[in-house]
Amino acid sequence: MALPSLPFFSKHKKPLLNRCRDDHATKMRLKYDPYYHVIEEQRGSTVRLDGRDMIMLASNDYLGLSFDPRVVEAGQAAMQRWGASPTGARSANGSRAYHIELEEKLAAHLGREACHVHSSGYLSCMSSVAAFAQKGDLVFADKNLHSSLWDGIRLSMASVERFAHNNPTDLRDALEAAAPDAAKMLVLEGVYSMEGHICRLPELVPLAEAHHCFTVLDDAHGFGVLGKDGRGTPNHFGLEGQIDIVCGSLSKSLGSTGGFVAASREVIDFLRTNSKQTIFSAALSPAQAAIASTALDLMQREPEHRERLWANTRKYRAMLDELGLDTWGSETPAVPIVLGSKERVYPFWQALREKGIFTIMSIAPAVPAGKDLIRTAISALHTDEQLERIAEAMAYAVKKVGVGR
Ligand code: PMP
Repeated sequence: MALPSLPFFSKHKKPLLNRCRDDHATKMRLKYDPYYHVIEEQRGSTVRLDGRDMIMLASNDYLGLSFDPRVVEAGQAAMQRWGASPTGARSANGSRAYHIELEEKLAAHLGREACHVHSSGYLSCMSSVAAFAQKGDLVFADKNLHSSLWDGIRLSMASVERFAHNNPTDLRDALEAAAPDAAKMLVLEGVYSMEGHICRLPELVPLAEAHHCFTVLDDAHGFGVLGKDGRGTPNHFGLEGQIDIVCGSLSKSLGSTGGFVAASREVIDFLRTNSKQTIFSAALSPAQAAIASTALDLMQREPEHRERLWANTRKYRAMLDELGLDTWGSETPAVPIVLGSKERVYPFWQALREKGIFTIMSIAPAVPAGKDLIRTAISALHTDEQLERIAEAMAYAVKKVGVGR
């Protein structure tokens, strides 16, 4: 493909420009960019695209709190009081009262001594690994971890042993084969974000203890969804305090944006003085912090959001089972529809779209080869009427693509 002769063009740029051009051409073949099409408006679980209302089936607003008027008001009030942004890192221009207040609340909620919040879950999860593991250490990683954790592992320069997804036997073999004297870290997710699987913590934690592994658990999708008052996966299994670091995101059940790392006081102090992601990146904004803090209060006081989420999830999964769709054994409100190839995923996704259901497709290498899927997520906001419309649309897509029963 000929490139335009731009004045700044040099042969050194050519490979990089070509990479962008190839990617762009692929998206044009799909007629539009499937991931960045513009949502013109949103009200709860209804979004407007191209002037048409659709049901949002891809958001991680599990408890539906991002549209709660009390949460929205808290964000507005925080901006009135503190301005729009902290405009820098806490190491550069200070921690604000709203950071400390949220950290204390999160630490208490999770039964930990201390907590640190970042402006994204990605930074929290990446730093939970990168700040602690070092060259020469051994990191044991579930092979289906989120990209933020892989980036943390890469940055740490530690050696990595991948074990089969959620498989204690494979982890045990890897631990037994490892040098006994190496410093070891185990990295897990509480709920695996694509698969919706709950981590087999009761079997994995004793292995970590027996082999003296420092354990990091990303509970982005378990927090708010599992455990008493939404305390997450460790609480669900009665294993709070047996995991060294629990990190996660404020952008899912708490309806905000940002992330957290919760651990002992010593571990958090070390993070604050050793993590580049923590020291050199702008802090959580006032609105983000106030939204998360108010949503956390509601999550504790009002169990009805989680009850509704689980009632919706049970209904939705039963409906998908009846259609014979493969949901990868999901156990949570994050429900993949595995179709196995992009030739099936694309028309299925298009059929849902035709019927007014907004979803996003995930194609290898974002998911393992042969597991191309549409990741859907249920929210407490979905109404019975919306679930019925989703069922009709799924039945239509199943028929159109010739999958399922
Ligand atoms: N960990 C997991 C498992 C996630 O799914 C995500 C978000 N997709 C993150 C970390 C990053 O969180 P955030 O979007 O808040 O940056």
